[in-house]
Amino acid sequence: MKKPAVFLDRDGTLIEDAGFLRDAAQVSFYPQAIAALRRLGDFALFIVTNQCGIAKGHIHPEEARAVNDHVVRRLAEAGISIRAVYCCPHERSDDCECIKPKPYFPRLAERDHEIDLASSFVVGDHPCDVELAHAVGAKGVYVLTGHGAKHRAELRVPGTVVADIGAAADVIERAHAVAILRAEGIVAFPTETVYGLGADALSEAAVRRVFHVKGRPATHPLIVHFGDASLMAEWAAYVPNAARRLAERFWPGPLTLVLPASTRVPAIVTGGQDSVGLRVPRHPMALALLREFGGGIAAPSANRFGRVSPTTAEHVRQDLGSDVDFVLDGGACAVGIESTIVSLTSEIPAILRPGGVTQEEIEATLGRKVPVAQTSNVRTPGQMKTHYAPRAAVVLVPPEELEQRAEELRKQGRQVRVLSAKDVAPHVLFTSLRRADDAGVEFILASAPPEQGLGLAVADRLRKAAHPRTSKE
Ligand SMILES: [Zn+2]
Repeated sequence: MKKPAVFLDRDGTLIEDAGFLRDAAQVSFYPQAIAALRRLGDFALFIVTNQCGIAKGHIHPEEARAVNDHVVRRLAEAGISIRAVYCCPHERSDDCECIKPKPYFPRLAERDHEIDLASSFVVGDHPCDVELAHAVGAKGVYVLTGHGAKHRAELRVPGTVVADIGAAADVIERAHAVAILRAEGIVAFPTETVYGLGADALSEAAVRRVFHVKGRPATHPLIVHFGDASLMAEWAAYVPNAARRLAERFWPGPLTLVLPASTRVPAIVTGGQDSVGLRVPRHPMALALLREFGGGIAAPSANRFGRVSPTTAEHVRQDLGSDVDFVLDGGACAVGIESTIVSLTSEIPAILRPGGVTQEEIEATLGRKVPVAQTSNVRTPGQMKTHYAPRAAVVLVPPEELEQRAEELRKQGRQVRVLSAKDVAPHVLFTSLRRADDAGVEFILASAPPEQGLGLAVADRLRKAAHPRTSKE
């Protein structure tokens, strides 16, 4: 299959533009360059540079090559592979074929490295970089480092303008994710709660793949995420006032509203029910993705069904590997526990799952009691008794008995980990459970926190993790 590429300008984009560079000692990478390129692992990377100093006699071709070799070597040491460095040694009056924005080098890459130019990008600090993108049907990203700020007014063709190479990587990753979603692929993305495994909510085929990859029962509904509260009316058959108030107060944020589903919502998203869960997440990367995509993204947590929810991109890769088409890496999730689910399908609102917005906050907003439903005839994510389960057996004990119980188990020769109150704080709970699994312990001992504020959600997840399983996976 043909690969998308990123063609990177060198001076002013990856490294500081200090005039005509003649040796390695003059090379100074922008601080964010290496982290940015590491995130572009799905792309074939090339450097395309105009070195008119050679034609003008300021530098020898060998000196330009030494600088290029050094840049490639430094990147290789950081685990980043550059497929080729394309260097035009001419000046504009030479009327050569290879000077930017002439398409010579990207065409070479297309021929020699099986590159799909239509899904590729050119990043640079000069208008000719964006023009080069335009010339080959790729997308241009213009950085304001180097000469970028100075020449910005000369930018005549459409391109995305960003601060630096780090922001350019954001744009590229996001555009790539949107393209995959539009082609009915599946993408893992960060939200403030946990990482989600997303598909176009209107594509039955894509949503079906999410169920398949997760190993999730088809009767379990997915939450539809979108980028703006005003889209709520497109997904709900009607929007009660209580929903408007909660959305206004908590969106974007960790709150899911269950409303009567509009007829456009595919049955596979609702699990065959006539209601649908809707949310606008707060994570800037999720919001930007949803706004660029424009539609709804149906997404459960990006882990195998019944397992601990992922709060880093690395968790997602460990769990799902190549089953997911792309992972947008947004670092660790800030809330770290799933959204609160509130049902507004009947006269009396109810919390179907405690989460990142507290019961107290919801009650204060609606000016009434909102009970946590013990049983409900609306099926929601995370409602099964056994869920969020690490491989180790989770045992809940009162705080004062923690050490004694651990000691008893250790005397029997068992591997035990005790989770402190700090370890079960909402934003680290799932990471703590994963770490215990990674350490290979048999028992995780923990105490549920008081059931107020976010403690309600933590206690809920711990109880579900602790529920005895009939079979050991
Ligand atoms: Zn040339």
